[in-house]
Amino acid sequence: MFFFFVGGVEQGAGRVLKEAAGRCLRCGGAADLVETEKVLKLFFVPVWRWPGRDPAYLCRDCGLLSPGSLGAEPGPSLLLPREARCGACSRAVDTQFRFCPFCGSSL
Ligand SMILES: [Zn+2]
Ligand SMILES: [Zn+2]
Repeated sequence: MFFFFVGGVEQGAGRVLKEAAGRCLRCGGAADLVETEKVLKLFFVPVWRWPGRDPAYLCRDCGLLSPGSLGAEPGPSLLLPREARCGACSRAVDTQFRFCPFCGSSL
């Protein structure tokens, strides 16, 4: 197994749109309707975040975040900014980075 990519996409809750708008699927408690955001982490550092497409219900009791509607998630590859290259090692790096993750030189 060879990893090109150390990290992943996590979903987080943004601001509350409507309080107690729904019920938790797991515990049945009151759930707030919240905006969602997705956070792409590389090497455990958040490098990119973007709003989720759909609001979700966040349970006040158990913290379960359940989507307002089910559907295919857009892949982060569609949403990544264009590539740049490090001047020192000429590897492709994200334009959001200030330092090259491969050789550590500033970009
Ligand atoms: Zn719950
Ligand atoms: Zn480099």
